[in-house]
Amino acid sequence: MKVLLDGKKASEAILDKIRLESEKLGITPGLCVIMVGNDPASSVYVKNKEKACEKVGFYHKTYRLMEDTTQDQVLSVIQEVKEDCKLHGLIVQLPLPDHINEELIINSIPVEKDVDCFHPFNVGCLLTKKKGDAPLAVAPCTPAGVMELLEMNGVDVAGKRAVIVGRSNIVGKPLALMLLNRDATVTICHSRTKDLPSVVREADIVVAAVGSPKLVTADMVKEGAVVVDVGVNRLEDGKLCGDVDFDAVKDKAYAITPVPGGVGPMTIAMLLKNTLSMAKRQRVCNKTS
Ligand code: NDP
Repeated sequence: MKVLLDGKKASEAILDKIRLESEKLGITPGLCVIMVGNDPASSVYVKNKEKACEKVGFYHKTYRLMEDTTQDQVLSVIQEVKEDCKLHGLIVQLPLPDHINEELIINSIPVEKDVDCFHPFNVGCLLTKKKGDAPLAVAPCTPAGVMELLEMNGVDVAGKRAVIVGRSNIVGKPLALMLLNRDATVTICHSRTKDLPSVVREADIVVAAVGSPKLVTADMVKEGAVVVDVGVNRLEDGKLCGDVDFDAVKDKAYAITPVPGGVGPMTIAMLLKNTLSMAKRQRVCNKTS
C-alpha cells in the first residue's frame, strides 16, 4: 500500500474549515436528528453527530422518540422542524420501527432541509445532474465522503473502472451516479451478481458497501487498485471491521481505507458540510422572502 486513505485526518481538516466558515456566516447552522426507538447502532451514530456539531459550534437538536411513537406523531415532529428557522438540516435516522412507513416519512422531509439527500426530489437532482453543472445543494453524506476522500488523496476517477459492491439507496446507487458524473465507468454488484470475484478483479477502484465482514479478499483485488471500505461490522469480540480483509488486501492495493477511521468520519464531515451549505441557502432565502 502506498496511500492510507485516512478519513480521520481528512475529516479533521474539513471540520476546521467548516468551523472557520461558519464563524463568518452571521448565523449558527443548526442540525436536527429524529430517532425513533433504541437501535444501538443508531444511538452511537446520533451521539457522534451531536459531538461533531459541538466541535464546529453548530446548534443541534435530537428528537429521541419512543419505539411506539405513531407515524402521525413523527410527521408532526417533521412539520415542527420544517417551521423552525434555527434548524437548517434534518436527518431521520433509519431504520424506523416496522409500524412506520419509511417511504412516507422520507417523502415528508422538507426538500430544503434534506441534509442527507433522502427525498426523491433531491435524488432526482443527483440523477439528472450533468457534468459541469453547479454543485448540488447537498449530496448524500456517505457517497460524498467517499468522493471527497478520493479527491483529497489525488485519486482521479475519470476513465477508471469502478466496481461498487452493494446497491442500497443510501450508499451504492448514489455513489455510482457520483462516480459516473466524474467520468468513471461504473459497475454495481449485489447479492445476485454472478462470480463476484471476477467482476471485482477488473476494478481500478473497488468500493465495498455490503455489511459482510471481510467479504472482499486479496484474490479479488487487482494489483495497484484503490480500495474503499464503507462497511462497518461489529465482530463477536466487540471490535469493528469492514467488508474488506484489510490486512491481506493492503499489500496489493495502491490505496486503501481503514475501518474504523476511513469512510465513517468522512460521512460525518459531509453531514456538517451539507448543513453549512443549507444554512447559507436558507439565510439567502429568508432575506429575500
Ligand atoms: P444494505 O443492507 O442496505 O445493502 C447491502 C447491499 O449489499 C445490498 O445491495 C445487497 O444486495 C448487497 N449484498 C449483500 N450480500 C452480498 C454478497 N454476498 N455479495 C454482493 N453483494 C451483497 O446496506 P447499506 O448500504 O446500508 O450499508 C452497507 C454497509 O455500509 C453496512 O456495513 C453499513 O453499516 C455501512 N455503512 C457505513 C456508513 C459509514 O458512514 N461508514 C454509512 C452507511 C452504511 P441486494 O440488494 O441484492 O440485497
